[in-house]
Amino acid sequence: MKTTDVAVPLGEDYPEIREGVRRICADFPDAYWKDLDEREAYPTEWVKAMTAAGFLAALIPEEYGGAGLPLRAAGVILEECHNAGCYAAAAHAQMYTMGSVLRHGSAGQKAKYLPRIASGELRLQAFGVTEPTTGTDTTKLKTKAVRDGDHYVVTGQKVWTSRALHSDLMLLLARTTPLDQVVKKTDGLSVFLVDIRTSLGKGLEIRPLKAMINHHTTEVFFDGLRVPAENLVGGEGKGFRCILDGMNAERILVSHESIGDARWFIRTASRYANERIVFDRPIGQNQGIQFPIARAYAAMQGADMMLRKAAALFHAGLPCGEDANVAKLLASEAAWQAAEACMQTHGGYGYAREYHVERRWREARIAQIAPISTNLVLAYIGEHVLGMPRSY
Ligand SMILES: Cc1cc2nc3c(=O)[nH]c(=O)nc-3n(C[C@H](O)[C@H](O)[C@H](O)COP(=O)(O)OP(=O)(O)OC[C@H]3O[C@@H](n4cnc5c(N)ncnc54)[C@H](O)[C@@H]3O)c2cc1C
Repeated sequence: MKTTDVAVPLGEDYPEIREGVRRICADFPDAYWKDLDEREAYPTEWVKAMTAAGFLAALIPEEYGGAGLPLRAAGVILEECHNAGCYAAAAHAQMYTMGSVLRHGSAGQKAKYLPRIASGELRLQAFGVTEPTTGTDTTKLKTKAVRDGDHYVVTGQKVWTSRALHSDLMLLLARTTPLDQVVKKTDGLSVFLVDIRTSLGKGLEIRPLKAMINHHTTEVFFDGLRVPAENLVGGEGKGFRCILDGMNAERILVSHESIGDARWFIRTASRYANERIVFDRPIGQNQGIQFPIARAYAAMQGADMMLRKAAALFHAGLPCGEDANVAKLLASEAAWQAAEACMQTHGGYGYAREYHVERRWREARIAQIAPISTNLVLAYIGEHVLGMPRSY
C-alpha cells in the first residue's frame, strides 16, 4: 500500500467501542478516582471491569482469546477512558507491553501467556527499562543477566517501574553482553519475561516510589534473581530491537490518552466558564477566559488529526515514526494547554480537590515526560526527519 492510498476516518469512529467504554467508565466517576488518589490505591475494580469487557485485550489476536482489533481501536478505548475522567495508565501498558511478546515471543511463549493475559488471569503491566543512573541513555543500562545453565542470573536496579506491585509479569530489559564487547551499543541487550509472583523474595524486591500522581510506580531491585532461559523473548542480544519495535505503537496509544485528557479539560472548563458568575456575568464572557479554552480546542483538534494519520499509517504497515512522534508531541502539549486553561478558568477552585481539576492537571503533565520525554521526541524529528546531527 502507498501513503496516498491511506484513508483517515473522521468523527467518532468505533462508535460501539466508545459507547461500551463510556458505559463502564460511568460506573467509576470522579469521586472514585479522587478517593484512590488520596489513598494511593490501585483501581482494581475498574481494571477488572475493563478486562471483563475485553477492552484490555483489544490488541491480542483472536486466536489467543483477544479481540484482534487495530491499534486505532485500542487508542479509542484509552481516549474514551481519559475523556470520561478515568486514568488508563493503571492498565495501559498491558496493551503495548504485550506487543513485544506478540511480535517477538516464541510460539510456546505466546500460547502460554497471551490467552491468560487476554482473560485477565495474568496481568502483564510492568515494563522495566529505566534505570536510576542512566535514564534516557538506555543502551548504557547496568542491569545484567548472565547465563548460568538453563537460567539467567539478573543483578541490577530499575526505577519508575510502574504497576510492578499490581502485575503478575514484568517485561525486563537487561544487558547480556557487556557494552565494551559489542559492535553496536544497541546489541547485547535482552528482554525477559519475569514472573513477579514466583520471584519476590528470591532475588527480586519491589519498593513503592512516592510520586506526584497515583501511578503505582516502583523501584525494583534484582539481586541474583534466577530467570529461566525459556523466558528470554526475541533471542539473546536482540532486546533493543524488540523494545524499539513497539515504540510507534506506544506513542500512538498514549497520545490517545492525551487527546482524552484534552477533551475532559476543555469540556470541564467550558462548563465552568458558563456557570461561574463574577461581576454579574459568566466568566466565559471574558475573552481572557474564553480564548485560552478555544486555543486549547484548536490544538487538540490539530493533534487529533495527526494522531489519526499516525494510526492509519501504522495499520497500513507503512513507516510512521515521524507521524507517531509528531502526534505524541502535539497531543501531550494539547493536553497540557487544555489542563492549564481549565485550571486558570477555575481560579481558586482549581486547587480544591473536590473539583478534580488539580488531580487531572497533575496526571496530564506526565505525558511530556513518560514514557518518552518531549526533548527525545524533538531529537527524533531533528535527526530522522530533518537530517540534523544526532544530539546524543
Ligand atoms: C510516573 C512515571 C512512570 C514511569 N513509568 C515507567 C515504566 O513503567 N517503565 C520504565 O522503564 N520507565 C518508566 N518511567 C521513566 C520514564 O520513561 C523516564 O522518566 C523518562 O524516559 C525520562 O528519563 P529520566 O527520568 O531518566 O530523565 P533523564 O534521562 O535524566 O533526562 C532528564 C531531562 O533531560 C532531557 N535530556 C536527556 N538527554 C537529552 C538529550 N540528549 N537531548 C535533549 N534533552 C535530553 C530529558 O528529555 C529530560 O527532560 C516513568 C516515569 C514516571 C515519572
